Amino acid sequence: LAGARDLVGDLVGDRAAEWDRAGLIPEEVLRTLSGRGLLCAGVPEASGGLGASSAANGEFTAFVGSRCSSLRSVMTSQGMAAWTIQRLGSAQQHAEYLPKLAGGQLAAVAFSEPEAGSDLSAMTTTIERHDDTVIVRGQKVWTTAAHYADMIVVVGRYGSGAAAVVVPASAPGVTVTRVAQPSGCRAAGHANVTLDEVRLPATAVLGGGQPLMLLVTTALAYGRISVAWGCVGILRACLDAARGHARTRTQFGKRLADHQLVARHLANLLTSEQIATRVCEHASRCWDEGSPEMVVATVLAKQVSAVQAAQGAATAVQVLGSAAAHEGHVVERAYRDAKLMELIEGSTEICELILADHAVSMPA
Ligand code: FAD
Repeated sequence: LAGARDLVGDLVGDRAAEWDRAGLIPEEVLRTLSGRGLLCAGVPEASGGLGASSAANGEFTAFVGSRCSSLRSVMTSQGMAAWTIQRLGSAQQHAEYLPKLAGGQLAAVAFSEPEAGSDLSAMTTTIERHDDTVIVRGQKVWTTAAHYADMIVVVGRYGSGAAAVVVPASAPGVTVTRVAQPSGCRAAGHANVTLDEVRLPATAVLGGGQPLMLLVTTALAYGRISVAWGCVGILRACLDAARGHARTRTQFGKRLADHQLVARHLANLLTSEQIATRVCEHASRCWDEGSPEMVVATVLAKQVSAVQAAQGAATAVQVLGSAAAHEGHVVERAYRDAKLMELIEGSTEICELILADHAVSMPA
């Protein structure tokens, strides 16, 4: 990932607030990063990717997240699409799709439906096989990056089990409608996707016939670790802004940092950033070592980091006072973006349920 931070620094510059206001990231920015393999840096070199470790990709994701959570969200979607193809696809499908994702194309992943949010077992989208063809029917909602995507990895029912299918966004029957004015990550290209009798070759089906929840867990694992590292980035941006402000602003004759109640906020922010970093490092180590703990460590990282980011962003707003009350301020964006991280990829409550199950089933 040499040079990746400089490139992101140059491409984002001070434009994140402008993109947030416009609700759009310029397409050439996304194409440039995708073309360098940076939106899914974990894709193996043999498949045209950079072969980054989870730890290296995670630190890079945090860096992007500290600059622009919308861009980091697009990166999470691209990485999740690549991971799903890697895990569920055949060697032929790896050769077909992965070089494209590491070479300039853009992707999204669609699970959620109007009646299937936290409870994805209520999913009704179907992928129906007819000889060499499949027909996809359904309605997906809130698909991050779908507005930009060339391909959408759609999860649906397939026979008595489930599958994912790679749907070109330009295929007849696909309609992508932007979600109007999301409260956070506003430039991440969230869209609802209607799939009306979309006919595709059966070779587009990944992992046909698996149990739905197994497939969902596999795909979401990447989304969770990526969001967790993105939250570390939010916390780092908030910590930087809060300490910079507290060092320079004077009230009651001394720096804000020298008022003990403000100093406590700074201590809490640093604590949040350190806690989130450590759980993410632990989860990435599990990924890089192929540890059986990987799934639980990833859920833990996502749950802890999202909660810490939402609390930390609120704390940073408190430290900055009216300085953070301007739309587009880095801390104001962080406050809106971080809250959404508690809802997605398994909300805080859903992650807590998974962790509670794990706690109950642990050997004495
Ligand atoms: P609900 O499921 O209706 O839940 C509402 C509340 O009830 C939550 O607090 C939840 O935790 C709680 N709750 C629900 N069930 C339980 C329970 N059993 N016990 C305790 N509490 C419970 N989807 C995609 O497929 N792809 C994407 O790329 C994507 N990106 C998104 C980006 C953003 C910014 C947002 C907001 C959403 C995105 N989603 C995406 C959808 C997201 O995954 C869902 O919003 C999420 O799964 C929660 O579903 P829901 O919003 O329908 O809330």
